[in-house]
Amino acid sequence: MKLTPTTKHCKICFKEIKIDDILRIFDKDICLCSKCQREFEPKFINFKVDAYQATALFEYTPYIKELIYKYKGCFDYELNDVFLNMYFKELKMRYSGYKIIPIPSYAQDDKTRGFNHVVEMFKNLGLETLQIIEKTAHFKQAEHKARKRSEISKYLVLKKEINLEKDKVLLVDDIYTTGSTMRAAINLVEKLNPKQIRVLVFAKTRTIPS
Ligand SMILES: [Zn+2]
Repeated sequence: MKLTPTTKHCKICFKEIKIDDILRIFDKDICLCSKCQREFEPKFINFKVDAYQATALFEYTPYIKELIYKYKGCFDYELNDVFLNMYFKELKMRYSGYKIIPIPSYAQDDKTRGFNHVVEMFKNLGLETLQIIEKTAHFKQAEHKARKRSEISKYLVLKKEINLEKDKVLLVDDIYTTGSTMRAAINLVEKLNPKQIRVLVFAKTRTIPS
């Protein structure tokens, strides 16, 4: 009898998954090729934003950049599963009881896109999401010099004043570069006196571009 293996395709790069590693033969839930699997191993990089503890799942490599670009451009539920499933348990444990506050995009951009990618990215954690910060203009970090970047604080506003005194909050974003957006968001959230503030981002650049 001849065994005909079912062909599976990588959920990220769509290439056929070759079972090139003996351990992978027994992994029924395999959904990534070995290259993507390696690249997609979360790094859990710890850093600080002002006094607050922050974690990045990945370094912002060209691979991760491409992945986020793909995700933003064409929202894909399968990709969404891949995004968080691999480190789900760890994240759920770490942030149990937290409420998520996503760093917003300009509302008009979400409307064009049909979804907010940051909200979708972290939705699977099953935590309550408070969309209380609003971005009032299209402001792209990359298009501005360092001095101007700090002006982001003018474009972030609290759209809802809620009482967070009993809550632990987790600010989430996709990419962390200079941190000016995150700091502006923290300044707003601090006014609501949460019990604790933590930061979780999908990817962080290694060096701060000037
Ligand atoms: Zn792949």
